[in-house]
Amino acid sequence: MEDHGFYINGGWTKASGRKRFETTNPATGEVLATFPAGTKEDVDAAVTAAATAFSKWRDTPAPKRGLIMLEAARIMRRRKEEIAAVVTKEMGKVIAEGRGDVQEGIDFLEFMAGEGRRLYGETTTSELPDKFCMTVRQPLGPVGLITPWNFPVAIPMWKSVAALLCGCTVVFKPATLTPLCGAKICEVYEEAGLPPGVFNMVTGFGGVVGDGIIEHPGIRGVSFTGGVETGREVYQKAARRLIKVGLELGGKNAVILMEDADLDLAMDGIVFGAFGTAGQRCTATSRLIVHKDIFEDVLGRITERAEALRLGNPIDPKTDVGPVASPDQEKKVIEYIGIGKKEGAKLLAGGEKLRGGAYDKGFFIKPTVFEAKRTHRIAMEEIFGPVLSVIKVNDFEDAIGVSNGVKYGLSSSIYTNDINRAFKAIQRIEAGITYVNAPTIGAEVHLPFGGVKDTGFTREAGSAAVDEFTYEKAVYIDYSGRLQRAQLDTEKLTK
Ligand code: NAD
Repeated sequence: MEDHGFYINGGWTKASGRKRFETTNPATGEVLATFPAGTKEDVDAAVTAAATAFSKWRDTPAPKRGLIMLEAARIMRRRKEEIAAVVTKEMGKVIAEGRGDVQEGIDFLEFMAGEGRRLYGETTTSELPDKFCMTVRQPLGPVGLITPWNFPVAIPMWKSVAALLCGCTVVFKPATLTPLCGAKICEVYEEAGLPPGVFNMVTGFGGVVGDGIIEHPGIRGVSFTGGVETGREVYQKAARRLIKVGLELGGKNAVILMEDADLDLAMDGIVFGAFGTAGQRCTATSRLIVHKDIFEDVLGRITERAEALRLGNPIDPKTDVGPVASPDQEKKVIEYIGIGKKEGAKLLAGGEKLRGGAYDKGFFIKPTVFEAKRTHRIAMEEIFGPVLSVIKVNDFEDAIGVSNGVKYGLSSSIYTNDINRAFKAIQRIEAGITYVNAPTIGAEVHLPFGGVKDTGFTREAGSAAVDEFTYEKAVYIDYSGRLQRAQLDTEKLTK
């Protein structure tokens, strides 16, 4: 077991003499490491390091910052198996998905390294003669990154790579459940040659460390991914300070399954979308909206497929579904299963913990399928676990209405072989992402990622990622050698 400190100013602080918390394996209960629970003073030390390092990092040419990202990609690729195993042990996703989590980090490092040679602004005309106009991107300054546990490498990498490439320095708070993954990220950046103070990590609890970051006067922007209620609090606190905020919040993502769809293809996608990562992806398929003509057939197929999934230790490559990430997660999911039963939804598969032997040490919940009404809470609220609600609809219009009838708007999908319907769905579904003939999961790093409605408004990844961590400066260069007055002199010209 490792005892860690914080990562501040290019080094690890001493682990001793502080209140600590443990990080554990949700499959086995094994304690993996201990970390210090940060205080406002610890946040202050990290922000001071980030603020001190800022001007030199800002002045480092962006292509050079990109080269460090490329080096970090090389290191992460070399250490992929080791870091993937840490993801799986600390968070509980199956090892293939642990590798995917790390690969997403590598992909984004490589993508953003190239952005170092773009970071485009605009040049444009002036209304006055002998005057040149352009925009340049400036980094916000030291920024705070607050992340959840479900993608413990990919999400911190999405945020940090974009922030660092843009010239920001970083104070990072990993989720309390996954600080060890955060420590691996610090190691990669250090080996890649990031200067001291450019990337700092303070571990601990949201109400103290997260709060401390948002409220620190040295922090110029915050990027947050997590639940809606926490996001609302973060937004309000940041609003009081008038700083820029990025918000990526919850989801209740639906697949629409039309009567003309290829059902074998759809079943593969839906099972992967609903039960991959034990349903704990923000883009997980948690609603299946099915045309009435194929409803009974689909209920039978999906129940059979859910029951066939192998639940077990996620480090075993033969396991399909691992545990949920924590006792709190387990409690919440079991509560929602109870709510579903009470509301009168029909339980078709799962619906309980897996018990006995080694399972008693972990948080294993059987893949669960309900036949639900569109108004049931289990069909409207984010559960964030292996629970799928199957809902019957009359036709395409009805399906779009149900898909849009929740407060979230992150990912969405339609299975159909009718090209007209596919395009209509793309146009009408209120969500940041729509897949056609693929499940609600599987974002690629060179496209923008984010949602609408209660999911938030930020776009991460893709070229849009730089918007979150920069501001545009307008630059006017007058080479006329005399005072030229915008608006006033222009008016004269038109007379
Ligand atoms: P959470 O909101 O409980 O915590 C997220 C982070 O915020 C953690 O680091 C936590 O310690 C910190 N935090 C908690 N209280 C805080 C406070 N008062 N001030 C500042 N920070 C605070 O979420 P979680 O349980 O870690 O993650 C699950 C949620 O994240 C789900 O709702 C899921 O949909 C969402 N999520 C969204 C996306 C997306 O891109 N839209 C991606 C992944 C996860």
